[in-house]
Amino acid sequence: MTSLADIRSSFLDYFDRQGHQVVDSSPLVPRNDPTLMFTNSGMVQFKNLFTGVEHRDYVRATTSQKCVRAGGKHNDLDNVGYTARHLTFFEMLGNFSFGDYFKSDAIPFAWEMVTKELGIAKDKLLVTVFHTDEEAADLWKKVAGLPDERIIRIPTSDNFWQMGPTGPCGPCTEIFYDHGDHIWGGPPGSPEEDGDRFIEIWNLVFMQFEQFEDGTRRELSAQSIDTGMGLERISSLLQGTNNVFETDLMKALVEASAHGTSTGIDDAHIVHHRVIADHLRSTAFLVAEGVLPSNEGRGYVLRRIMRRAMRHAHLLGAKDPLMHRLVPALVQQMGAAYPELREQQSMIQETFESEEIRFRQTLERGLKLLDEETTDLTGGDSLPGASAFKLYDTFGFPLDLTQDALRDRGIEVDTDGFDAAMAEQKAKARAAWVGTGEAADQAVWFDIADDSGPTDFLGYDTEVAEGQI
Ligand code: ATP
Ligand code: MG
Ligand code: MG
Ligand code: MG
Repeated sequence: MTSLADIRSSFLDYFDRQGHQVVDSSPLVPRNDPTLMFTNSGMVQFKNLFTGVEHRDYVRATTSQKCVRAGGKHNDLDNVGYTARHLTFFEMLGNFSFGDYFKSDAIPFAWEMVTKELGIAKDKLLVTVFHTDEEAADLWKKVAGLPDERIIRIPTSDNFWQMGPTGPCGPCTEIFYDHGDHIWGGPPGSPEEDGDRFIEIWNLVFMQFEQFEDGTRRELSAQSIDTGMGLERISSLLQGTNNVFETDLMKALVEASAHGTSTGIDDAHIVHHRVIADHLRSTAFLVAEGVLPSNEGRGYVLRRIMRRAMRHAHLLGAKDPLMHRLVPALVQQMGAAYPELREQQSMIQETFESEEIRFRQTLERGLKLLDEETTDLTGGDSLPGASAFKLYDTFGFPLDLTQDALRDRGIEVDTDGFDAAMAEQKAKARAAWVGTGEAADQAVWFDIADDSGPTDFLGYDTEVAEGQI
């Protein structure tokens, strides 16, 4: 069986042979980019090379980049455990050209990598192109010999990438694998595209134009390439499954969760184990970089992911804190490729354990309250915002955890009501400050707290410089 580690190195080796500099993964907490919550694609560390602000002594690079998609524009948190293809933490393999080669090399590279290096059957592959990108469609015909019906033209922004409102932009092409008609789902662009049958494995971005404020666009003089392929997705395919949780690495973590909770890996438990296995990775990597659970900003996103996993551990009947006991399994799987996990192992374990001890003090009572407040509710009903806020404020339940807990029963949360309750509490707190006669500039402190408040993260949703491939 081809392991994840083998696939990672054969990708990097292939692009090394094609003259690319092998560059290390950059941190999950982006350096010099406060607008982006976490690194969510391979191009993030190269942004300044694409815009021409920075030059290095190489014009081609290849990476395996650690990514987290659990907030901001790319948030896959709610997908994890429910789709076959989404993780909050994953590795993105990529090749990049900074004003060097363009489409007519990028497409042959990708095709050779997938069909020759990795040996994936050509007749199971199909591609999308931006509807006006004749050049890409012609290349796919010529290079891969794909028939017209397997070159799908997509008119939406899914196949047009923009770095921000202005700056580099251009069409994308995506490679999909058809796992067969025994699995529900339709080809890209069809109403059933979100099923698990057709899975996107690789996205190639052609940075072809520059977008200006007045709405006009001009061809870039230095056209660039940015690609991203999910390591776990390509691995699942090579290991004969369509599910990222069935790969060697994720399976080992699922088994660790089963072992740690003395439960089986059957239909009744599998989703819990998968959520735990995924969240173990994203949270451990974040703590390894020094992010700690807190009530705002990045630390709050970390806390949300941790507490979600901890609720699932509780549902599996774990009597004691679980997550810290799974760290050795993760280090065994990933410590060689990511030494920071080994170096920070005890820090990660201590952080997990104290957060879980703390959360468990209120978890049970919170779940009991949730049960009581929802006994009369059925699918389609919503939990009042005030109840969700009480769970947040008194029991430490992040809003998305409450939503996750009610998801199976089809019950939603009145998020407007939640926000209103939050705003009311803030107003009260503010009034209390004024009442103490403290310096008036305390108000400034509250405004800052509002800006990085735990529920909405508006600062991040407005991110403009995000790698979006
Ligand atoms: P999807 O449409 O399946 O959500 P995407 O278009 O959002 O994927 P891109 O932003 O194009 O994904 O990222 C490039 C590649 O990274 C994808 O082709 C896929 O192989 C991989 N990838 C993206 N999101 C995830 C995820 N949440 N978990 C695992 N791999 C992912
Ligand atoms: Mg996505
Ligand atoms: Mg996509
Ligand atoms: Mg994509």
